[in-house]
Amino acid sequence: MTHPTSPDGAVVIGAGMGGLLAAAALAGICRNVTVLDRDILPETATPRRCVPQARHVHALLAGGQAAMEDLLPGFVAELLALGATGGDALGDIRWVVDGHRMARETSGVPGILASRALVEWHMRRRVRALPNVRIVDRSDVTTLTVEDGRMTGVSVQHRDGVPPEVVAADLVVDSSGRSSQSVARLAALGFAPPPESRVAVDVTYATRHFRLEPPHLDGDSGIGMAPGPSHPRSGFMGVQEDGTWIVTLAGYGDDVPPLDADGFLDFVKSFPAPDMYDALRTAAPVDDGVRYRIPTTVRRRYSADDLPSNYLPFADAICSFNPIYGQGMSVAAVEATVLRDCLRSGRTRLARRFLRGANRCIDAAWNLTVDNDLRIPAVPGRRSARVRMANAYASRIDRAAAVDPAVGSAFLRVTHLLDRPGALLRPSTVLRVLLASR
Ligand SMILES: Cc1cc2nc3c(=O)[nH]c(=O)nc-3n(C[C@H](O)[C@H](O)[C@H](O)COP(=O)(O)OP(=O)(O)OC[C@H]3O[C@@H](n4cnc5c(N)ncnc54)[C@H](O)[C@@H]3O)c2cc1C
Repeated sequence: MTHPTSPDGAVVIGAGMGGLLAAAALAGICRNVTVLDRDILPETATPRRCVPQARHVHALLAGGQAAMEDLLPGFVAELLALGATGGDALGDIRWVVDGHRMARETSGVPGILASRALVEWHMRRRVRALPNVRIVDRSDVTTLTVEDGRMTGVSVQHRDGVPPEVVAADLVVDSSGRSSQSVARLAALGFAPPPESRVAVDVTYATRHFRLEPPHLDGDSGIGMAPGPSHPRSGFMGVQEDGTWIVTLAGYGDDVPPLDADGFLDFVKSFPAPDMYDALRTAAPVDDGVRYRIPTTVRRRYSADDLPSNYLPFADAICSFNPIYGQGMSVAAVEATVLRDCLRSGRTRLARRFLRGANRCIDAAWNLTVDNDLRIPAVPGRRSARVRMANAYASRIDRAAAVDPAVGSAFLRVTHLLDRPGALLRPSTVLRVLLASR
């Protein structure tokens, strides 16, 4: 069976955050957009099988919020109305970076705390409400259809006895996630696989939810322990929309955070500041917790020349970051604004223009996190002269941010994708860093 689509119909593979954001971008330009997902998409804000990472803490960076708001005006206010907690990323959250407690001020960088399930469910509602978007779950894309170098659609295997179909499209956006099969599927069709950059970070996450006693954190909405060479263990706790507190711990290599009550608390106790332990030692666990291992980060360096026309890789299918830095959803949102802007200028050389724009954001996010991962002794990889210099400066920023909150704010603006990393090299900032880190 071939599903009839209009000549400017688009298909999006995957209804995760990336796929939904891509659909929001396409909806304003394409006549119709079909989003296909193999999973069962729940009617409520609950985690689902094919996105197991949703059970772990998901930060929504300020740059990502701005891009989502640009695509779907009102999105952030509605998320807050649904119970997400807003606040200032430095004024309302306590940060300890490699053992240095960041000095507090109102940074102007908006932070949002909510479960990934709520963020995705709300995004799905907004995208589903767009009149020309159809989201179809239980639909596994099994084949990419290419004719004369052009992608013409996808083959879909449905569940529950629904016969398979071919969905024709003149644009396919592939947002099938970090374990995407599309590289292999394209290779089988004769397209050269993209060169890949990988870092064997070998990070393990362990996450549990708690009820705090007393049920608050003296007015703060979260505590973050960020990793560095002296203190590679990391963790984050933040309030969720149901009033529970999500606590995610992360270790590199063999340093796997335990899930059992005593082991979990011992890991928390080992942090260089007592805040999280103080909050959790009297807290009641509300679940047994889950783990997630990330052996490698992967960046696929796609070239438009080696892709079928009318096909765009998207979000984690291009680059899956070390999640400790909370970038994936936000980079996907920026990519979606790039996609929309490219489409507004027509279809000519679309893949080339999209990849160039997307790579601008990916470059900044990727370099920042890879450099920081290479500060951790357990992470293998060549420390070039540039990396060593960047990391010596990063250690100075950690120390400076402990006494000068303006340095902390400048740092957060970069990690939240509001400023380019070069902003930390402005002469005024360098001077502050050098003076404050002495
Ligand atoms: C442990 C962990 C913690 C993270 N923490 C954060 C964080 O704090 N902040 C942040 O911004 N990001 C975080 N991320 C990253 C974030 O989850 C992703 O970057 C983000 O969800 C965008 O991913 P995506 O849409 O590309 O893929 P996913 O969200 O993984 O979605 C892929 C979708 O494609 C579907 N699919 C796959 N193959 C097919 C197929 N053949 N046919 C049909 N459907 C298919 C899947 O069912 C799934 O729904 C974290 C990731 C991990 C692993």
